[in-house]
This record gives sequence, C-alpha cells and structure tokens, in this order.
Amino acid sequence: MLCTPQPYHDESLASYILRLSEANYYESPHWILQLVSCSANRVLKFALDRSKVTKLSQLTGIDDKLLQSKAFRAIRGHYFISYEVNQKATHLCPKCLKESSYARFLWDVDINRVCHIHRCNLVNKCPQCHQKIQWSRPGVTKCKCGFDFRDSAVTNATNSQVNFALYRVGCWGDAECMKLVKATYREDNPLFCLTFEQFEQLSNFLKFDIRICLSHKGNLAMSQDILTKFNSKSKLLSSEELVFDFFKDWKHNINYLFQWHEDNSLGKNSTRHTILAMVFRFVEFSSLLPVNCLLSTQLEIALRKYLYDYNVIQIEIAYRYSNDCYKEKLDLDRIEDWLPRLGGMLDCHELTLTRLIWVGQHIKSLRWLKGCSAWQIVLNRPLWKLFEFKSKFVTL
Ligand SMILES: [Zn+2]
Ligand SMILES: [Zn+2]
Repeated sequence: MLCTPQPYHDESLASYILRLSEANYYESPHWILQLVSCSANRVLKFALDRSKVTKLSQLTGIDDKLLQSKAFRAIRGHYFISYEVNQKATHLCPKCLKESSYARFLWDVDINRVCHIHRCNLVNKCPQCHQKIQWSRPGVTKCKCGFDFRDSAVTNATNSQVNFALYRVGCWGDAECMKLVKATYREDNPLFCLTFEQFEQLSNFLKFDIRICLSHKGNLAMSQDILTKFNSKSKLLSSEELVFDFFKDWKHNINYLFQWHEDNSLGKNSTRHTILAMVFRFVEFSSLLPVNCLLSTQLEIALRKYLYDYNVIQIEIAYRYSNDCYKEKLDLDRIEDWLPRLGGMLDCHELTLTRLIWVGQHIKSLRWLKGCSAWQIVLNRPLWKLFEFKSKFVTL
C-alpha cells in the first residue's frame, strides 16, 4: 500500500482502516476489507480473527500487535465488559475532529454520549441527510451525502454528564480524568473502589428505584440539570448518568431510598413481608460491592440496625458441611462472637451478615456444585464443601 499512516494511541481499528482508505484515495473502506477478507459489520470485532489483523499488518507494514490493540475485543479485555460496541452507528465530536481527523475509539462505545474534552454532546446523526453516522463512510470527516462533520453544530453537555464522562474515561485508564472527577466527588466516595463493571451492575440494580422514587417526587439529592433532563424524559440522559449523580450525595440518598422503600411496602403488606423485602434489598445491594468497601460497611451497619429495630433477635441457619448437617440459632446481639467463628469454619474470613444471608438466598438457586459456588461469586473464593445452606429470621 502506498500511503500507510501510523495509528493514533486512542484510535479505533475501524477508524484506522477508514483513514487508510482515505489516504490511498479509495472511495470507501470496502476495498481494504476485501483484501483482508473481512465484512464491514465485523470490523469492530476484528481481533476475533488474528489472521485478518495479520493480513492488514502485511498490507501496511504496521506491527500486528499494535493493530490488534486497536481492535475492540482487545480493548474490551481491559476496559469494556458488558458494554457493546455500537456496530450500527457511531458517535463523533465535531470539535475533536477539527483538531485532528481521526475517530477516537471511545466514540464507538454505545454508552458514550459526551466528549469530556470539549464538554459537549457527541453527534450521532448527520445534520444534512439525518442518517445515523456509520463508521464505514467516504472519509473520517465526510458523510455519504457529502457533509463535512466538522461543520456540525454542537450542544453543551451538563456538568453532571461531563463528570460521568470523566469517571468513565478515568475507569478505563485515564488518571488525569479520574483526578478531576475525584476533586468534585471527594476521594472517599464508594464509587471509586468499584471497577467500571461493578458500577454497571450497581446502576442496573439502582436505576429502577431511583427512577420510581424521582417520579414520585421523592426527596433524593440530585443535580438540577439531571432532574430537568429526567423530567423532560430526555433521551440524552442515561441510567448510568442518573446513578452516578445519585452517588454524589450517596449517604443521604441511600438512607432516603431505603426509608422510601420501607414506607412504601408498609401498609400494603405485613410487617414480616416488609422485613424480608428490605433485608433482601440490603443483601442484593451489598453483594454488588467489594466486601471491604465503605458502602458495604455502611450497608452492613444499616442492616443490623434494621433487624434490631424490627425485633429480629435470632438468625437460624442450617447447612451441610463435609457431609455433616448443622443447625444453629445465632443471637443477633452476639454477632461479634459467632460471625468470626462461622467465617473461620467456612474458610471465609471476610464473612459479614449481609454475605451470609446472600448465600442463604442464592445457594439453592445456583447450580453451583457443577463448577461455580455461590461463595465464589460473593467472595471470589471457592468453597467446595458447603452443600446446602438455609437461613431464617426469628423475631421476638
Ligand atoms: Zn471533543
Ligand atoms: Zn449526511
């Protein structure tokens, strides 16, 4: 190939192929794709097939490890777990394009809607032909209709959205961005002890609660711009942005949310049902967090207080361990004595009450003996000998 530019450090493989086509005066990337026998809609997952990257490397003389690292599978290995690359359409920042004409790999990830550098919303449709922007197009800055994307008008993103964009980029390895967001959210915010994957699970868990609570005008402390977007049902507001903003004032918001849940389950159901429903909320919530994270500790304290307030005096557990059956009634006011003992016996020293109940809830539904134990999921450690586990609350 005559002209072989170097890929940029934050460029996607798709963008590089596009730039390569443009530099060599091809009308579209299809010719290069044909040479490496790859179809257009698979190009973002290029790294699935090493031989294709190798062919591209032979074609361009660019090191194939470098090319491989631009492909989404490789990037996903490090940073992206459950977010899919948006294969049907991509986003772009007209201001970034003006500074340097190549597509940043972050633009291809579905969750990205904001450019944290220019604090503006990314563009996903051509302002002239109103079609979604495809990665396979005549040029990096050119639409099929001839429009130059650098001329697109941009709208400002809100501060909350920019903070979330910085957090996301920070989680994916940019230390400067992480520093900026920590300055706004305070270093001791529990979000900072999570991986981005854990944050995603947390936002999946919390988004319904927050939405329902907000639509009932619950007293959550949220940023005004998020509330405005929420009330206008703006498509630009994602669940992750909502949950991220919820954590800015996390102590107030979490207490409020639990209180709100309790108020709403009371009256409709019996107290016993309320207690169980609330305990399961605590337990499910806590299981999404690392054991020693500040928020887990707070949830553990809140759970114990909650059980105490509702006169739960004992927890009855039954389990089978090394082929022997055990049944124990454990007094909640002596939890400091038996929790370490039980934890030691189960070879699980970080055992907390929330984790213990979590296992009680899940150990039967998971077919964990066939290769994965509930403990492994809770505490990232296998415990093969625990065959059955049940727990029950005893009230005064
Ligand atoms: Zn930008
Ligand atoms: Zn167009």
